[in-house]
Amino acid sequence: MQGATLSPLLYNLYTSQILDYVNIPQVKILQFADDLLLYSENQSLNIAVNSINTALNKLQTYYRIFLKLEISSEKSSVLVFSKDPFAHTVNISYNNDKIPIVNHHKFLGVVVDDKLKFDKHIQYICQNAMKSINVMRSLAGTFWGSDPKTLNMLYKSIVRSHFDYSSLAYMNVNSTLLRKLDVIQNIGLRVISGAMRTTPINSMEVENCIPPLCLRCLQLAERFCLKELANENSVILDRVSYPVEITQSIEASSISTNTLISGLLPEIPTIMSYIKNLTNNNDLLYKLEKHVEFVWVPSHSGITGNEVVDEATRRDHDDDLTDSFKVPFTDYYMQIKIHLKRRWKEYWNYNTEILNKGQWYSEIQRDLPMIPWYNSFKYNNRKFITCINRLHVGHCCVPAHLKRKKIILDDNCTYCSKENADIKHVLFECEMFNIQRLLLASVISDVAEENSLSVPRRPRDLLSYRAFFLPVFKFISNTVEQI
Ligand SMILES: [Zn+2]
Repeated sequence: MQGATLSPLLYNLYTSQILDYVNIPQVKILQFADDLLLYSENQSLNIAVNSINTALNKLQTYYRIFLKLEISSEKSSVLVFSKDPFAHTVNISYNNDKIPIVNHHKFLGVVVDDKLKFDKHIQYICQNAMKSINVMRSLAGTFWGSDPKTLNMLYKSIVRSHFDYSSLAYMNVNSTLLRKLDVIQNIGLRVISGAMRTTPINSMEVENCIPPLCLRCLQLAERFCLKELANENSVILDRVSYPVEITQSIEASSISTNTLISGLLPEIPTIMSYIKNLTNNNDLLYKLEKHVEFVWVPSHSGITGNEVVDEATRRDHDDDLTDSFKVPFTDYYMQIKIHLKRRWKEYWNYNTEILNKGQWYSEIQRDLPMIPWYNSFKYNNRKFITCINRLHVGHCCVPAHLKRKKIILDDNCTYCSKENADIKHVLFECEMFNIQRLLLASVISDVAEENSLSVPRRPRDLLSYRAFFLPVFKFISNTVEQI
């Protein structure tokens, strides 16, 4: 039935004998529901073409006689990957009709082209991603609309998912093509944070905790390889030519509890071997008719028998428990995440220290945050978050910055006419805001005392601590209104 949830599964079951009938060694078949793909790989183009034609004949018999189904040759297409100049003249036919030869074809959402440039696929995902970006734009402007926490989640689910899908296939293509995806991610980051167009990209990435796309691709590649390592029947790893670095602590042959967690908690191997013994003797547990619950108590303090457990732990820890329980490969995802953070930090340092991009922000935010600051802030007003984001990255509507970016001609303050009106001038110097500044100073000194902080003397000190964000926002609202 069209559109029913069970339809693809039922169709797969109905056609599940396909491999038995079309049993040609040189031809492989990929199928998901009614998307069917036959492919053959050979040094000789003629052998590959003949194999496919033989397979198609068998396929026709199977579909007609056993399944009572028809495949339309007009809706099918042939894609040839070859350097042979006559590759596009090959004759592959189904039901005596020649199947049209094309230079690209979409299979399961991936547009594959005959030169493997993936330019058509990148174009396709750009179009889809831009549609999703427009959805985000309709939900928020710079100072109004949805809060950045929601937009951040929305970006990851409806925009970045387009980049994630099939990223392994296109991650090594021409960098000019990949830059098109970066441009869309940057638009997304601006929509989330309300940042100005001139804002350094590396600062927006860190502020929103969204890694650069090239690092995200590597993270997904590592996850894929990890999954393949866990799969004993993997045939893909033998063919991976990209130098994928998983992490130093992961070895395919030693994925066991001992390697993963004994370094963290020496008690774990003891507990695991105890559980193993119990499960080996589960008949005894049934006979005793006892209900057994395993409860993890993270500390021995105040528990009788502490010394006995400690002694057992020491004894077991000395033994080589390489034959312990295997753990799911997803447990290693945290290692991959740590790896990503390390690479991102190196990239961040290179951009700020060598290329001098995002220096202002790097003095406020020394380390990569785990989550964006606004995610855990109770006051999630968009105007407030945009204001703090812009002050953080140092790109906001103050005359000095607008002049530097050649948006206006002079950098005089609109209120007191003094030159070089930058963030420091608005927050600390402009004499037209002296009354509001007195109020700000009083609140700031109270907040500093409550949180045992020193009273900030520079804009960067004022913007480094969450406790000062709300007083700063109120000062901006009462003076220049928007920044
Ligand atoms: Zn002024």
